[in-house]
Amino acid sequence: MMNPQFPQPLSAMKEGVLESIIEKVPFGFSLINADYVLESANDAWLKIIQKSENEVIGKNVFDVFPEMKDLLKPILENVKETKQPFYSPEYSWKLMRQGILENVFFNFVYHPIYTDSGRFQHFACVVIEVTDLVETKNKIKNEEERLRLATESSHTATWDLNLKNSEIIHSSYLSKIFGYEDGDAISHQQMRGHLVEYDRINIVEKAYERALKTGKYKYEARIIDKKGNLKWIFTNGKIFRDEENQPIRMLGVMQDITERKTNEILLQESHHQLNTALDATKLGRFDMDYETQHKYNFSPRFLSILGYDADTENLDCKVFEKHIHPKYLKVRNEALKKAKSTGDLYYQTKIILRDGKVKWVEIYGRLLESFEGSKPYVSGTMRDITDLKEFERKIRESEQKYRFLADAIPQIVWIGESDGRLTYFNQATMDYSGKDYNTFLEGNGWLDIVHPNERDENIRLWTDSVTHKIPFSFEHRFRNKNNEYRWFLSRAAPQLDEFGNVTKWVGTSTDIDDMKKQDEHKNNFIKIANHELKTPVTTIKGYVQLLKKMRGNSDDKFLVNSLNTIENQINKLNHLMGELLDISRIESGKLPLHKGDFSLLKLVTETIEDIKAAEQSHHINFELSGAKDIEVFADKDRITQVLNNLLTNAIKYSPNSKEVNVQLFVEGNCAVVSVEDFGIGMDEPELNKIFERFYRVSGEDEVTFPGFGIGLFIVKDIVERHEGKIWVESEKQKGSKFYFSLPLLEK
Ligand code: ADP
Repeated sequence: MMNPQFPQPLSAMKEGVLESIIEKVPFGFSLINADYVLESANDAWLKIIQKSENEVIGKNVFDVFPEMKDLLKPILENVKETKQPFYSPEYSWKLMRQGILENVFFNFVYHPIYTDSGRFQHFACVVIEVTDLVETKNKIKNEEERLRLATESSHTATWDLNLKNSEIIHSSYLSKIFGYEDGDAISHQQMRGHLVEYDRINIVEKAYERALKTGKYKYEARIIDKKGNLKWIFTNGKIFRDEENQPIRMLGVMQDITERKTNEILLQESHHQLNTALDATKLGRFDMDYETQHKYNFSPRFLSILGYDADTENLDCKVFEKHIHPKYLKVRNEALKKAKSTGDLYYQTKIILRDGKVKWVEIYGRLLESFEGSKPYVSGTMRDITDLKEFERKIRESEQKYRFLADAIPQIVWIGESDGRLTYFNQATMDYSGKDYNTFLEGNGWLDIVHPNERDENIRLWTDSVTHKIPFSFEHRFRNKNNEYRWFLSRAAPQLDEFGNVTKWVGTSTDIDDMKKQDEHKNNFIKIANHELKTPVTTIKGYVQLLKKMRGNSDDKFLVNSLNTIENQINKLNHLMGELLDISRIESGKLPLHKGDFSLLKLVTETIEDIKAAEQSHHINFELSGAKDIEVFADKDRITQVLNNLLTNAIKYSPNSKEVNVQLFVEGNCAVVSVEDFGIGMDEPELNKIFERFYRVSGEDEVTFPGFGIGLFIVKDIVERHEGKIWVESEKQKGSKFYFSLPLLEK
């Protein structure tokens, strides 16, 4: 658009007006003719070049600025030729000013001027010195560089976001935060893409909304960087607005705060763990100035133990002291004194609550010495132990009750620790032995009253029980206060915890002396009776046999039957007397064994033959597996007795079947004999008991199966005294299979 006050061309202007305007304009202006001669210049121009009018007007421009000739000449020639003006912003120019070569900057224009006929006439040269501007610009650039260095060394990235088109300019460190190569430019879109979805929605977008209102943009959020690492970033920015108050730009910094956050989270977690632990253990927490005993930092639990509501009540620093039961003030003071030397504060005290109720609490704290000018203080916990104390009381009571009970009974009662040490004996022990309590506890003090003959075996059995956690049972003699020995049966059972570890041994020792003596009398009686009966029975047996020989073929059926019956009954009586004698011998440990080498195969077959001769009711099948030379070192008569017993039982307890199977085989280094019948059988629970003395499953059925229940007891004793084993497999109404094993003769 043309300005009406400055109509073109210049020649149309009044002479002098233009000159005076040019003279006053704040930029340098000069006219150079086609021969490069300076025709005119205004003051500003002269000032810029620091020369006087005389020095330049009418002179060739290249003479005036010889240092510029190489640069300037092609420019001017080009302007002349192309008729296009030359603009040069911030042109650096080495200029000699007042004898000093200075680096100056100009914005300058060489504009061609033509005559109306189009002939080139002048170069209009307009020069504005911008040295200051360029310097300022450079300064800013330097500042920026410095800022860049500063931000990068402090691990801070900078960014500049255009809010209109979302274009972002950022420092290279920002790329690094997002896991890109150092120089990579990343778009705003890319950056957003790295944010953890949840944080983008809940943190970043909300922060942006807030920024639009307040102008400040600030958040901490998580990103997954390009390499897949989870990181925490912190952003702090500011919004800039245009004249219409529209947000146009946002500038800010960003930091990688992963390390701090991780530590923060760890700290939070450990705080949380501590709190959970405190909560779970129902501990109240407090800190206390050791000198003044002022408390601070009470936890809500601390206050609630004392019966206060942490939310509504304001408490003073000596609230705890007010509640201590007066009787325990001394305990507390002593504990505080002790803490000074040990560093640990510990005591239990009763407290009286506002409503008069009494509670027990336990205080535990650490005295932390003063550091960096702070006073020494106690950091501690308080625990409500009322229930615990109540428990303790009940346990004490019940222990007293049991002790009383234990002391009141006439039987000896004792308690051992898991390692076998005896730590308690009841009153009856002292009463019996006439010794005092402590002599029993010291060392193996109790062993002193055990008869010397039984001491070694006693220790062996007790050690065995303790080691294997198995019940203890032993008959031994204890010396009483009159130095007399009496027989006791001691038994102990281990008390196990839920993991099967022994917590205690509880034992009793029962006086069985009278019983033992009666047993001895009984055994003596049986022996004597046996002895006394033997002569008449043998005599009767001899006469019956003689009579049978003489009258056995008689036609008198009654006589023959009677003689057979007498002989049978005499045999049974003999057998029974033998068994009774055996029992009494077993009990007094005097069943003699006469061992020798013999073939078990021969013994088994012979015994079977004998039984077959006497009992025709059953078929006895024999089966031998493996080697024939099965030799043992044993008491032949006793082993015959064992097999005899098993065979007669098999026949007796299988009245409705005809078969009995006997097997002989070798297993490992043992010979095994089995006797199988298909009779009445037994139930599982009975299987172990049948080897006990006088035990009879068939006891109720005395008519069908007469007996005393001592055969198997003797059998078991004989087999075990040969280091053998006896066992049974049986099923009710199906039959039984008895086995016994004997060690093979070592060759
Ligand atoms: P007795 O046979 O004199 O009663 P034992 O000691 O020989 O005494 O046997 C003990 C008990 O074992 C018997 O009363 C019987 O109940 C049971 N018993 C023994 N052998 C057999 C068997 N073969 N079948 C079923 N029960 C048996």
